[in-house]
Amino acid sequence: MTKLLCSCGSTKAYDDCCSPYHAGSHCPTTESLLRARFTAFVKKNKKFLVDTHHPMYITPQLISDLEDTSFEPFGLNILSIDSGQQSDTQGSITYSFSYRDTDGIQEFTTTSLYSKLGDQWFYEQDK
Ligand SMILES: [Zn+2]
Repeated sequence: MTKLLCSCGSTKAYDDCCSPYHAGSHCPTTESLLRARFTAFVKKNKKFLVDTHHPMYITPQLISDLEDTSFEPFGLNILSIDSGQQSDTQGSITYSFSYRDTDGIQEFTTTSLYSKLGDQWFYEQDK
């Protein structure tokens, strides 16, 4: 039986990839956090997205944006990773992904900033 591949594009099974993070394990690197957050968008896991968003950067607008379940990203492609390893406290990742809107398939490239609180990585905002 084939296991469902993880939506983050790792080519691993979801159970062996982002699932443990969604169950509460801390992401060891910014890359694992980006992938777990991407999969959370696909799975409409709003709680995980809020829980891994740096509390200083959470706004009422952001919370209401997460209610919009029509956003369905796919095709995550990581372009570059700066710091964000286990021994770091800050990092950034540049990546692209695709999504569908009323005009068809769009591609979006962005750089996300991350920092650590204690031993846990959080997403701050896009550059
Ligand atoms: Zn994954």
